[in-house]
Amino acid sequence: MHVRTDSLSPSALSSFLAELSDIPHDTAPNTVAAKSRDFFWYSPILKERLAHCVAEAVVTPRSETDVIAVAGLAAKYRIPLTVRGAGTGNYGQAVPLHGGIILDMIAMDAIGPVVDGAVRVGPGAKLKDIDRQTRPSGWELRMFPSTYRTATIGGFIAGGSGGVGSINYSGLAERGSIGGARVVTLEAEPRVIELRGFDAHWVQHAYGTNGIITELEIPLAPALAWTEIAVAFSDFMQLARFCLKVGRADGIFKKLVTAVEWPIPRYFGTLKAPVTDGSALGLFMIGRASLVPFAELVEAFGGALVYQQNEADVAASGAVPIYEYTWNHTTLQLLKREKNVTYLQSAFPDLAAVEAMQQTFGSEVTQHLEFVRANGEVVVRALQIVWYTTAERLNEIIAIHESRGCPVFNPHTYILEDGGMKVTDAAQLAFKRVADPLGLLNPGKMRGWTF
Ligand SMILES: Cc1cc2nc3c(=O)[nH]c(=O)nc-3n(C[C@H](O)[C@H](O)[C@H](O)COP(=O)(O)OP(=O)(O)OC[C@H]3O[C@@H](n4cnc5c(N)ncnc54)[C@H](O)[C@@H]3O)c2cc1C
Repeated sequence: MHVRTDSLSPSALSSFLAELSDIPHDTAPNTVAAKSRDFFWYSPILKERLAHCVAEAVVTPRSETDVIAVAGLAAKYRIPLTVRGAGTGNYGQAVPLHGGIILDMIAMDAIGPVVDGAVRVGPGAKLKDIDRQTRPSGWELRMFPSTYRTATIGGFIAGGSGGVGSINYSGLAERGSIGGARVVTLEAEPRVIELRGFDAHWVQHAYGTNGIITELEIPLAPALAWTEIAVAFSDFMQLARFCLKVGRADGIFKKLVTAVEWPIPRYFGTLKAPVTDGSALGLFMIGRASLVPFAELVEAFGGALVYQQNEADVAASGAVPIYEYTWNHTTLQLLKREKNVTYLQSAFPDLAAVEAMQQTFGSEVTQHLEFVRANGEVVVRALQIVWYTTAERLNEIIAIHESRGCPVFNPHTYILEDGGMKVTDAAQLAFKRVADPLGLLNPGKMRGWTF
C-alpha cells in the first residue's frame, strides 16, 4: 500500500491554500485535529493505529462549484483529500492516513422537494433534517443509522450499511436504495458524473475513495406514526424467537426489531424501562395501527411490556429516542461506563447459531441482535459486545465465529476490503480509476488500489 505524497511539501500546501481564495478553510491545529477523527476509538486496535493521524487543513465547500475548484487544486498540487460528513463512522473511514486536506461537506445541506417518492439532497444534509422536511408530505427515510440525529446522508451512503428501517428495506447495498449520485472526480480538470440506478452503488460504502459525492437521490418510504416499545423476557432465546416472529409478521408495521442480552439492559438507565436483573430486553418501533396485534404477540410469547412512548412525544420532550440504545449505540451505552468493551458485527445463519455462540463464549461475548430483511427473508445480524482482553483473543473470537458459519464484518480494520467485503469490489475499483486516477482520495483505505 503506498500513496503519492512525494510532491506534497509545505510550499505546495500554502500555494494550494492561497489559490482557494474565498472557499472557507481552516488550518487551526485544534479544528484540523478534531475534524481528522471519527469514532474509530470504539476499537482498541484502531485506537492505537489511528490516534496520531491528522490532516493539514480543513476545507468547507459551499457548492459543487467549490468542490470542483478544490478537487482541481488537490490534483494540481498532489494533495491527499479525505471527504468528511459528520465524522461518526466507526472504522476510521474519515481519518486521513496520509495528511493532506479534509473536505468537510457539512455546508452542502440542501434538501429538495419530494418528487415521485424520492428526494434530492446535498451530501451534508443531516438525516434528521431530511425526515423533518419530507414528513409533512407523507414520506420519510427508508432507513437510517442510530446516529440519525448527527450523521449526514453523504456519510451514510459512503460509509454506512443500514440500520433502523432495514427490517423492511434491507441495507444500503440493496438495489433501489439509492436513486442516483452526482460525483466530482479528482483530476486536473474535474468532471461531474451523474450515476443512475445500480451504478450509484459504485460510491456506496467506498469510504470516499472513488469520487466526491455532491448530490444524492434517495427513494423514501410512506411516513407513519411510530411507537417506541421495550419488552422484557426472562430468557434471551425466547426473546430472539419473539423478534423473529415480529420480523416475519407481515401485517405488523415495524421499523426496529432489536434483542439484547443481560447485562446490556443494566446500561440503559436513561431509557426508564424497569427490568429485573438477568432480563433480556427487546426494543421496537411499531406503527401505531399495529399496537394491538403486537401486544397480542407479546402475550403469546410470555414477554412483559415495560416501556411504551410515541416517538413524536419522545422527540418533543428531548428524551433519548429508543433507537439510540440499538445498532451501534448499544456499544456506546456500554462504553460510557466500561473501558474494556468493544464489539463485533456479524451475521447468524439462524437462531441455533446464536445459541451455539452464546454457549461457546458465555459472558465474554454478550449477545445483541438486529433483525433485518435481506433477499425477502428476515435474517439475524449481530453487534455483539465483546469484553475485551487482548487483540489475539479478539481475533480468535472472530475466527471461531467464522469457522461456525457466522461471518464477521470486522469493525477493527480501516481497510475497506477487510471489513465486510473480503475482496475488492471490481466495479468500485474500476470507478476509482475513472474518478481518482492520481489515487489522492482517502489514500490507504482501498487495498485493491495499486498504481
Ligand atoms: C454510536 C454509533 C452508532 C452507529 N450506528 C450505525 C448504524 O446503525 N448503521 C450504520 O450503517 N452505521 C452506523 N454507525 C456509523 C456511522 O454513524 C454511520 O454510517 C453514518 O451514517 C456516517 O455518517 P457521517 O456523516 O458521520 O459520515 P463520516 O463518518 O463523516 O464519513 C463516512 C465515510 O463516508 C465518506 N464520505 C462522507 N461524505 C462523503 C461524500 N460527500 N462523498 C464521498 N465520500 C463521503 C467519508 O470519507 C468516510 O469514509 C454508527 C456509529 C456510531 C458512532
